[in-house]
Amino acid sequence: VSQRPEFRRSSGCCNRWSAPARQDIPDPDPLGEVSFDADPVFGATRDLKEPFVIRPAGSPDAYQERVQQGSGIDQVSMAMVPLVRDRTTIGVLGFVKFGDRPWDMGETNALQAVASLLVQLHARIDAEDRLQYHAYHDELTSLPNRRALVDEIHRRLTGGTGQATALLFLDLDRFKAMNDFLGHGAGDRLLVTIAERLSNAMSPGDFVARLAGDEFVFLLWRPAEDVDVLAVADELLRLVAEPIEIGGHHITRTGSIGIAVGHLSSTDAEDLLGYADAALHLAKTKGGNRAVVFDDGLRIAADQRSATELLLRDAIDHGGLLLHYQPEIDLRTGRLLAVEALVRWNHPLRGVVPAGSFIAVAEESGLIVDLGRWVMAEACRQMAVWRRRYPQLRFIMRVNMSPAQLATRNIVRLVADCLNDNHLPGHAICLEITEHAVMEDVEQAVQALHDLKSLGVSVAIDDFGTGHSSMSQLKRLPVDCLKIDQTFVAGLGVDRADRAIVEATASLARSFGLDVVAEGVETVEVVHELLSLGCYRAQGYLLSRPKPASELEPLLSQGWLDPATFTQTDEATNAPTTKAVALL
Ligand code: C2E
Ligand code: CA
Ligand code: CA
Repeated sequence: VSQRPEFRRSSGCCNRWSAPARQDIPDPDPLGEVSFDADPVFGATRDLKEPFVIRPAGSPDAYQERVQQGSGIDQVSMAMVPLVRDRTTIGVLGFVKFGDRPWDMGETNALQAVASLLVQLHARIDAEDRLQYHAYHDELTSLPNRRALVDEIHRRLTGGTGQATALLFLDLDRFKAMNDFLGHGAGDRLLVTIAERLSNAMSPGDFVARLAGDEFVFLLWRPAEDVDVLAVADELLRLVAEPIEIGGHHITRTGSIGIAVGHLSSTDAEDLLGYADAALHLAKTKGGNRAVVFDDGLRIAADQRSATELLLRDAIDHGGLLLHYQPEIDLRTGRLLAVEALVRWNHPLRGVVPAGSFIAVAEESGLIVDLGRWVMAEACRQMAVWRRRYPQLRFIMRVNMSPAQLATRNIVRLVADCLNDNHLPGHAICLEITEHAVMEDVEQAVQALHDLKSLGVSVAIDDFGTGHSSMSQLKRLPVDCLKIDQTFVAGLGVDRADRAIVEATASLARSFGLDVVAEGVETVEVVHELLSLGCYRAQGYLLSRPKPASELEPLLSQGWLDPATFTQTDEATNAPTTKAVALL
């Protein structure tokens, strides 16, 4: 805007004008830094909302003097336009004409347009910075997140220092229980406190990140060879375990740490995290509040796990799974009430293996979702065949559903499709969900179960008694049946506490109008106990082992199991006639 001839083309780039360098700047520069309070004209710009023009005649002498001293120009006429963002003045764009000259509307309008472009640009840069920040930081604790950690590990492992990097993977013990007990707000406070303690424990160059939930990672800067990593881990555990006051409660949480050391070129970031995670897992199974270093033994176990995962993936995709079915019987009459579908893996080396030996791997690796989809489809297909073949039978098919599967978005659709494809009514199927799965996230479970029940299927809580659900939670759950966990059933007649638990569950079920099934019935004594407690739906090796569909045909064609076959007493002990028989 100046009419002075000093404006020159910059030597560097084409078509770019740069302002003349100010020459002979006095020291200190009177225009270098002027506080708002020190000068009424500068002060007037602080909260400026509209363009503001100042000419020599209308401006205080002190201002013109300051400008004169700083620039060597006698008189200036200045137009100022504010940079206003969200109703806040974030800066001012000032344009100077040398001498006493007017500013017309056209000029100030043009300046306002420039200002608004600048504000937009500024907002965009801010938003990009924010996005960048959120992409690499955890919102709750402001610590770097998993992505930032992986980048950092990668940088260190390939950084050319040739040093080994030690990674400490920390997880709080029984954090979930505390969260449930004190609420999520308290849980968050605890996590923030732990994050602060870990940050304070960093030496220069160390790196702390929060991965998820109550998982933190501490990367040591010093080469692993030079540090007593276990001593560092113990110090971190001590810091974690210091009491925290939250909402009037003094809370003490212990933690567990898995340690892995990564060497240049032989490890990548995800591997290193995986190794530390495996060590952490071991620390947890040893009771927590300790640190474990990942070593060769763990490496072999981890490799085996990955091999199992690969084989299982293949089995799911290429027909390596099958279902066995275990009958559920009315202990009073022997009538067949239900069959439970239990998945089996036809393993290339080990033959047919039971669910118990691979479901955990499937769950940890996420394969359980695809596995569950196959099970649901196959169980429905088989049930449709049986219903056609034995139309007079009124029994149901029970299908286990893992927590991960229950949480998938399209679960209702999946079940509905399986029913439709096989022309099955919903009431032919009962979904079994473990008590743990339900208690993990009660709100979500209640919603998912309601949605599923709208298809007409029934729902059972599996392994009941092991998950500490409260009465009030149970009342809200849309369920039809409780399956008492085998451990309590096995203790009937032996352990008085177990009997009390079974008895309480049976009466709870009665008062809520739910069915109750005893699982793992292995002995005649248990049958007697169950009958005396009014609990007559049962499943267990004594009645029948899980079997392939074809081997179940004799039972299906008869429709009931002769109670004498499972209540016969041992002739050697000459025990009295069983109640089951007596009841008939
Ligand atoms: P669960 O649902 O509690 O199933 C009962 C387990 O106890 C079965 O083991 C069954 O073979 C076993 N069992 C039955 N009667 C007796 C008995 O009298 N004594 C003893 N000691 N055990 C008995 P399995 O088939 O190895 O299944 C283990 C667990 O794996 C199941 O426990 C269930 O939680 C899970 N599972 C099985 N099939 C599936 C499936 O298709 N999907 C999902 N998500 N989980 C499954
Ligand atoms: Ca089950
Ligand atoms: Ca069970």
